Amino acid sequence: MDRKFDIIVVGAGLVGLSTAFKIQQKMPNKRILILEKETSVSLHQSGRNSGVLHSGLYYNPGSLKADNCVKGRRELVDFAIKHKIKHDVCGKLVVATNQKELSFLPKLLNRGIKNGLKKLEILNPSEMKEREPFVSGLGAIFVPETGIIDYKQVAHKLVDLIKKINSKSGVITNSEVSDFYRNEKHSVVVTNKQKFYCENIIFCAGLFSDRLAKKDGLKLDLKIVGFRGDYYTLTDQASHKVNNLIYPVPNPEFPFLGVHFTRMTCNEIECGPNAVFTFKREGYKKGDFNFKDTLDALNYLGTWKLFAKHWRFGLNEIVKASSKRVFLHNLKKLIPSLAIDDIVEGRSGVRAMALGSNGDVIDDFKIVQVNKNIHVLNAPSPAATACLSIGESISQIYLNQKN
Ligand SMILES: Cc1cc2nc3c(=O)[nH]c(=O)nc-3n(C[C@H](O)[C@H](O)[C@H](O)COP(=O)(O)OP(=O)(O)OC[C@H]3O[C@@H](n4cnc5c(N)ncnc54)[C@H](O)[C@@H]3O)c2cc1C
Repeated sequence: MDRKFDIIVVGAGLVGLSTAFKIQQKMPNKRILILEKETSVSLHQSGRNSGVLHSGLYYNPGSLKADNCVKGRRELVDFAIKHKIKHDVCGKLVVATNQKELSFLPKLLNRGIKNGLKKLEILNPSEMKEREPFVSGLGAIFVPETGIIDYKQVAHKLVDLIKKINSKSGVITNSEVSDFYRNEKHSVVVTNKQKFYCENIIFCAGLFSDRLAKKDGLKLDLKIVGFRGDYYTLTDQASHKVNNLIYPVPNPEFPFLGVHFTRMTCNEIECGPNAVFTFKREGYKKGDFNFKDTLDALNYLGTWKLFAKHWRFGLNEIVKASSKRVFLHNLKKLIPSLAIDDIVEGRSGVRAMALGSNGDVIDDFKIVQVNKNIHVLNAPSPAATACLSIGESISQIYLNQKN
């Protein structure tokens, strides 16, 4: 097996795969290797998310999130049509359940318009019920460009396309990058199994992006912390209560959208996710613990500042995670007729959130270049929606670096 490549991408999530795909499209002769520590691609954030094609409604106009979400979504929908990937641009409701939220709707709508969204509508309760008969609220925004997609299918298609363009490129799984360094000729990437050689390394390691960047000599003003999100599923008897996507109005103080209802492409209805600080970066079960991750988080001033600022929110999320009744209580704000037997415990995902030393979550995407390497330091939601656009940006950074 040849172990020399032009580029090595670390991490086969949607960001790593889209980056490799975009570079491969522009430079078909480049040999690109994607190294993934798991048994398959997209087993972490990219395969454990809500499966939503975000519209771009929420993000600050002009931010990387806003631009990449809108561009990336349009491109991903075209990609899904071209490659027959399961998706549905079904629209969603953002529902206000109190006066404060209702008065926030016009602001949210204007933000969406500034971000280029089309045909946004404010609905009164009866118009809202025409779309979602079981929902309760004082009003809603209808966002027609939001959709759902099978992100795992997207990831596997990207792998196929990369290999189709250049048969010498591809993914090697079960290969954890443990070290890398530069000698006089090239970069050496060390995995648990063997060494590989390349000219450039692009790090797209999600929950571990900070550790690899630190190893590369970057002085970081952030640390990645994990926020687990648990989902429940509606039973077959209750699934008629949701047609498409129903979201609450987000609390602008927190970087999470609040528990919502999502019809998945398999037609199951999921409710969630909550947001619980986790002491294991890839800890998908309640009570999961990892000594290194815990020490890392607790030795960081930003973690304590986050706890101090948002202890009430944090406590609520822990209670919500440990009690089905409390979780249901939150869901009932949107669909009051839901009963305890209507929901069953489902899967979970962990979000990689970049936390600044001041205790604030860094909101926007962050990509930096160091010598011949590129690091994706922060790619939270909507990075799955935006993956092709993020990949395009990284490919431009790579091309500019070459000139
Ligand atoms: C619960 C949840 C819900 C979400 N909902 C949505 C949504 O509906 N829509 C949306 O647009 N976004 C959503 N997101 C966000 C979105 O999923 C992520 O922003 C996106 O998937 C990030 O992709 P990534 O490639 O950066 O990270 P990942 O998918 O986490 O990929 C990183 C990869 O790097 C690998 N890796 C790490 N370290 C190494 C190493 N040393 N060697 C080799 N491999 C390594 C990992 O195994 C992993 O496969 C959600 C996220 C979560 C967790």
